[in-house]
Amino acid sequence: MSPSLTGKVALVTGSTSGIGRGIALALANAGCKVVVNGFGDASAIAALLSELKTPAGGEAVHIPANLAKPDEIAELMKQAESRWRRLDILVNNAGLQTVAPLESFPPEKWDELIAVNLSAAFHTTRAALPAMRRHGWGRILNVASAHGLVASAGKSAYVAAKHGLVGLTKVTALETARDRITCNAICPGYVRTPLVENQLAEQARLTGKPLERIIDDVILAKQPTGEFVTVEQVAGFALFLCSDTAAGITGCALPIDGGWTAT
Ligand code: NAD
Repeated sequence: MSPSLTGKVALVTGSTSGIGRGIALALANAGCKVVVNGFGDASAIAALLSELKTPAGGEAVHIPANLAKPDEIAELMKQAESRWRRLDILVNNAGLQTVAPLESFPPEKWDELIAVNLSAAFHTTRAALPAMRRHGWGRILNVASAHGLVASAGKSAYVAAKHGLVGLTKVTALETARDRITCNAICPGYVRTPLVENQLAEQARLTGKPLERIIDDVILAKQPTGEFVTVEQVAGFALFLCSDTAAGITGCALPIDGGWTAT
């Protein structure tokens, strides 16, 4: 049974696409008002905002801050909280990927990736906590990755950022443990979103192999189930972590990875 989150306000970073979009939809269907953030085509974003208007009481606004820029994050947080005069749920989801060996990893890509995948969560969390403490309830979800728990070659910045995000999750949980605020990291395996489609296309280009071979040999070789995790599965899990049933779960890095990190 889905929990009711009627009247709660959620900010989901990077919710114009993929996993963040799925989490935004799940929250709106549970009655949340959702602040959507991320880049994208204006008409697709308008269509998403209509979809987030739900019979359960969901509605949404889009605030397009660039999370690589702390001053834009500060403005996003101010606007997000003032829109409905509260902020109960923060989902740090926005992320990007660059794959290259260490020696040829472009330093500017390292800086951008660390800024968006890790530092942004520090900036949003510190700004969100006062409102959560005032209302005596809060949920912070950091969308990390199986790469927050284990490594893969070629993904230095991503793996460093996601391990860092797991560390930030634990500290946030400890500092909020007495305040009815929980903070957890969700660690998905491969989910077929644009972020992964780009990696598949790049691997197919580099190796000359057909896409289906790349999926079997490179991607799903990591996941014992042999299947992608779905956006809906991650969104359902996120929704559970926002429920009161999950009040005792905090400071955890929770895999949803088809068995990847069991190997
Ligand atoms: P996606 O590419 O579909 O979505 C990424 C979102 O982040 C988009 O909305 C994009 O606009 C936003 N974004 C990127 N840079 C931004 C910036 N500078 N400022 C604001 N928004 C920005 O990717 P996804 O697969 O849905 O990834 C979402 C999260 O899930 C990421 O943190 C990713 O690392 C994580 N994740 C993905 C997978 C997977 O297999 N897809 C697995 C584990 C973890």
